Amino acid sequence: MRLAGVDLSAKESRPSGIAWLDEGEVFVKEAFSNEEIVDLLMEVSPRVVAIDAPLSLPLGRCCLRKECNCERIGGMRWIEREMISRGYRVFPVTFKWMRNLTERGISLKKNLEKRGIEVIEVHPGTSRKILGPLWELLPKINLRIQKKDLSRDEEDAVYSAITAFMYFLGEFETLGREDEGLIVLPLPIRK
Ligand SMILES: [Zn+2]
Repeated sequence: MRLAGVDLSAKESRPSGIAWLDEGEVFVKEAFSNEEIVDLLMEVSPRVVAIDAPLSLPLGRCCLRKECNCERIGGMRWIEREMISRGYRVFPVTFKWMRNLTERGISLKKNLEKRGIEVIEVHPGTSRKILGPLWELLPKINLRIQKKDLSRDEEDAVYSAITAFMYFLGEFETLGREDEGLIVLPLPIRK
C-alpha cells in the first residue's frame, strides 16, 4: 500500500516535487509536465495522493479569470479563512501565481480521480508546524529516507505524503466546507 504527496509548482517549466511512501521507505523525485507527473503517479499507484495546491474554487466562482463576473467574489475559501484564523499563513487563490497553481491543481485532481485515485488537499508548511522537523518526525512514525539534503520543494512533497499517511491512519482533521472544498491537517503525533 503506497501513499503519495505532490508539491505542485504553478508552471510546468518549474519542477514539482513528488514523494511516496512504500513499505516504510520515503522516495522523492522531481517532475515537470502534467503528463510526467501523472505518469509517475500511475507507476507508483498510490491509495491516496496529497496535493500541495488549492483543489477547489471559492463558492460562487465559475473560473479564475480576472475579466469574468465571478471575479467580484474574490479568492478566499472557507479553508483560507479558517487557516488564517488559526494563525497559519496561506494565500487567497487569486494571489499572483496562485491562480495558475489552483487551475493546475484542480485539473490534476480531476485527472487522478478519473483514474480511480483518491486526492486530498494539503498544506505541507502547516503540516510541518504541526508535526515538527523531519529528522525528528520520521523515526517517530517508523519511516526511513535514503536521500539527504532535500530541497525545500522535495521536503514539501515529503510532508504532503506524510499528511496522506496521517489521513490514512485517521490521525487528521479537516478545515473548510464540504460543498466548497476541504483541506487535511495532520493531528500532532501522540506520545
Ligand atoms: Zn468565472
